[in-house]
Amino acid sequence: MSTFKAMVVYEKGEKFERIIEEKNISDLPDNEVLIRVKYSSLNYKDALSATGHKGVTKNYPHTPGIDAAGIVENSKSDKFKKGDEVIVIGYDLGMNTPGGFGQYISVPANWVVKKPDNLTLKQAMIFGTAGFTAAMSVDKLIKYGTKKGGKILVTGATGGVGSIAVSILAKEGFYTVAATGKLSEENFLKTLGAQEVVNRDDIIDEKRPLLKETWDGVVDTVGGTILSSAIKALKYGCSATSCGLAQSPKLDLTVFPFILRGVNLLGIDSVECSIDFKEYIWNKIAKEWNIEFPEGFYEEVSLEGLNEKIDLILKGKIKGRILVNLE
Ligand code: NDP
Repeated sequence: MSTFKAMVVYEKGEKFERIIEEKNISDLPDNEVLIRVKYSSLNYKDALSATGHKGVTKNYPHTPGIDAAGIVENSKSDKFKKGDEVIVIGYDLGMNTPGGFGQYISVPANWVVKKPDNLTLKQAMIFGTAGFTAAMSVDKLIKYGTKKGGKILVTGATGGVGSIAVSILAKEGFYTVAATGKLSEENFLKTLGAQEVVNRDDIIDEKRPLLKETWDGVVDTVGGTILSSAIKALKYGCSATSCGLAQSPKLDLTVFPFILRGVNLLGIDSVECSIDFKEYIWNKIAKEWNIEFPEGFYEEVSLEGLNEKIDLILKGKIKGRILVNLE
């Protein structure tokens, strides 16, 4: 097959227009591994790329999709052969390299992970970058000594990263508190494993430099005053991870939580971390963190159905995950 279907974003003056169109394999960059994409998923960053954020994608026309899972069609690298089932997330995929919102991608071999046996391509993309980032956050908290059974705050809890973090933490035996702007989703969050659900506005305190010691750990996906308040309420020696900026990229803090309570702020980057580390996290997802998500946790859409979801994720209105089926 030399033609395939892809979502292409065009820059038209001030506006960005999304069109599903036929592309040629020869339109793709000449990289080592050509992959027939079976599934992708929608992440916040894809919506930024699809709406013209030049910090994510510099040049248009462009096909977004930072996630892809599929089958190797052709490989110039000894590491992969035709028929291998593989996963690609991050690096430049979907940013300035045509991404998983197309039925084919062509990428360097060192961006590609062999799919672990006990995970399907579909399951891998239900996790996608969001689930990978959640797993990375929990892995880092555990490595920094977060005690099992401890009380962990998850912010942006109904979002992709947040909801999977809630599920993994529950599976690891933590007492998970989900902070959300959608209290109507309390049941959804409890089904995922949250013990408590709190209104995100109730945990914000912008005035005091330190708050009552409450959290044994924090998985933050939103930044801003929610993250700063959470850090101020960490117990002595405990850690918070920071991966996102759904509320704000700003962080207004004094050094007191760090110098009086010895707390840690741990950065999470799923994009440029090494391919060996990506393989390690995918294997954890396939084994101990292979979660059976409840009914309604994800919605499966075609490329055509993806369009409206892009606008919804930018408004913080998506619950769980959007799986993109490229069959
Ligand atoms: P989603 O859009 O799925 O979820 C974000 C959630 O944040 C929303 O569902 C909402 O949850 C909450 N939220 C949205 N707007 C606001 C607001 N204004 N103030 C406070 N909370 C808000 O995104 P993802 O889960 O996919 O990603 C979360 C963040 O993590 C994004 O900023 C993304 O760019 C980043 N990210 C970073 C990665 C990395 O490698 N560092 C990798 C993946 C994602 P609720 O209503 O429950 O509060």
